[in-house]
Amino acid sequence: MNSEDRSEIRASVIGIIASLNEEMLILTENAKPIAPDCSLGRLTRLEAMQEQELNVNRLHEAGIRLNRLQYALRKVDTPEYGICLECEEPILTARMKLMPETSLCIRCANELSTS
Ligand SMILES: [Zn+2]
Repeated sequence: MNSEDRSEIRASVIGIIASLNEEMLILTENAKPIAPDCSLGRLTRLEAMQEQELNVNRLHEAGIRLNRLQYALRKVDTPEYGICLECEEPILTARMKLMPETSLCIRCANELSTS
């Protein structure tokens, strides 16, 4: 991976982190428990609670992704960035651009998800 690729990835990670932060602000708002005196009908209230639960999960996943992206941002200029943790082979640059937070090559990611 050359330094142009690295700076392109760094810029895209910064962009993803910014939009993820915005998304998490909205999710935090929508993940708040539904007040019991909420003036919604019973069904609407049930739906609102299911929606709230979904948002709690989304917020959790966004938080994990944010951590991994911040880690990628610290690592992007180090020699080990873009090297697969499992097989220690370089990960395709195209994959790193699509998923800058990944630490596995396609083959190892597939093997780990199917095993
Ligand atoms: Zn690998």
